[in-house]
Amino acid sequence: MIARFGLESKAQSGIFEKSNTNMQGTNREQLEDQVGQNLTLDPQDWTQMRQLGHQMIDDVMDYLENIGQQPVWKPIPDEVKHFLATDIPQEPQDIDSIYQEFKQYIFPYTKGNIHPRFFAWVQGTGTPLSVLADMLAATMNPNVTIGEHASLYVDQQVVNWCKQMLKYPAEASGILLSGGSMANITALTVARNHQASVRQEGLFNVGSQMTLYCSAETHSCIQKAVEILGLGAEAVRKISVNAQYEINTLELIECIEADLAAGHRPFCVVGTAGTVNTGAIDPLEELWQICQRYQLWFHVDGAYGALAKLDPQYAPALQAIEKADSVAFDLHKWLYIPYEVGCTLIKNAEVHRNAFAITPNYLLQEKRGLAGGLESINNYGFELSRGFKALKIWMSLKEHGLAKYAAMIRQNNLQAAYLGQMVENAPELELLAPVSLSIVCYRYIHPELSEAELNALNREILIQLQERGIASPSSTLLQGRYAIRVCIVNQRTKKADLELLVQATLQIGAEQVALFLAPKTLSVT
Ligand SMILES: *Cc1c(COP(=O)(O)O)cnc(C)c1O
Repeated sequence: MIARFGLESKAQSGIFEKSNTNMQGTNREQLEDQVGQNLTLDPQDWTQMRQLGHQMIDDVMDYLENIGQQPVWKPIPDEVKHFLATDIPQEPQDIDSIYQEFKQYIFPYTKGNIHPRFFAWVQGTGTPLSVLADMLAATMNPNVTIGEHASLYVDQQVVNWCKQMLKYPAEASGILLSGGSMANITALTVARNHQASVRQEGLFNVGSQMTLYCSAETHSCIQKAVEILGLGAEAVRKISVNAQYEINTLELIECIEADLAAGHRPFCVVGTAGTVNTGAIDPLEELWQICQRYQLWFHVDGAYGALAKLDPQYAPALQAIEKADSVAFDLHKWLYIPYEVGCTLIKNAEVHRNAFAITPNYLLQEKRGLAGGLESINNYGFELSRGFKALKIWMSLKEHGLAKYAAMIRQNNLQAAYLGQMVENAPELELLAPVSLSIVCYRYIHPELSEAELNALNREILIQLQERGIASPSSTLLQGRYAIRVCIVNQRTKKADLELLVQATLQIGAEQVALFLAPKTLSVT
């Protein structure tokens, strides 16, 4: 029926002549035979598939329930790397043996960010229910952009919940994206297009350099976004930070003034709500006022810290997010949702839409039928195909309720404060930055070691913490000093995990100091 309908309409338009031979040169009987094979990728043996599924769920839940007893991380043996470099399979393989391979070669060598003692970068843990939610989303497998189907309403509802979490205006628009980087570039696209009409003629006619302001501690994705937006890395004015790693607002004002005097075109200030290095929060209220004064777009990169607005301790410092023209934040960090999902909220929905809306013939919207329903999400971002990432958020928020998430975020912040206290109480340890949000930067110190030796010592301590599978902090350099950097966006971390981290640091540190000092002692004797 469908094929015939298609043929007729094409014939009517005069593009194709009817004929007995199709484009592959087969005649009608051959074609019927071939089509009659009815190839499919669905299993022949549904019972086996079902049993395998049950087995996987049992294994996964056992694993998650006991994750704390696993090493946080282990090195990948060469044998595994060779196995994972073999050529594309041509022949089918039994699904049970594929699962065995997964268990042997892939599963044990996880990054570890679901483990209670994973503290590296800013990486969330996920939850058991969201594992199941992802399975349900994959089962429905909708393309969540256009059309009249429930997942679009779930997506919309979750975006509205995102606004409510941040107390952002209900009239704002928003879009779920793969993460903070995409969320930031989406917002900065809107900011650029709002401040200069570039959609038709590009940057060609802007006539002067458009400049963006952020601190030297701003995430690298902001510069990348500015480069991709065609403004060039030189358009990014990296303002210095104070001792708390927050943007120096006096220098910011001077820089804007100087750019105006030079005939440039300042268009946007990016404030960071929780820097990756130290968790610093820029003075957002002050930044907002500066933006008001100079008519600049105020964007907040809250990829890590925006959700700390739910913690009463940090709510005041983050309150100006409510006034920002746009805010980007991640749900795979501090909402503990599995990868990938971030969100951009834009205060002025019309300006947001004006930056992206375009409607080709094959995406026409209808009032009724499958192509009816909500406005296409593609009018608010670049991605056309989108997965059903909203479902895991929807189910998770229902499972626990927002108050529990607020308590979890608060707990992570308190855990960082507690770790900071343990560091300050240990004479062998030193804090390298004020503890802010859930990030603690510390190092092992020893009076007989130089700064260069301390850097080498702490690098070794960090690697041993990881290689022995004890804990996984990451590192950063703060004013040239190598820091062991702990970031807790982890719903599984317990107080004892932090105590173990401190003990292990002290123990490995002492072992290593003995090794560092040994050659010196030798050379003296
Ligand atoms: C993580 C992070 C980003 C990047 O977000 P992704 O989800 O990794 O793309 C940007 N800015 C800050 C402050 C971040 O912490």
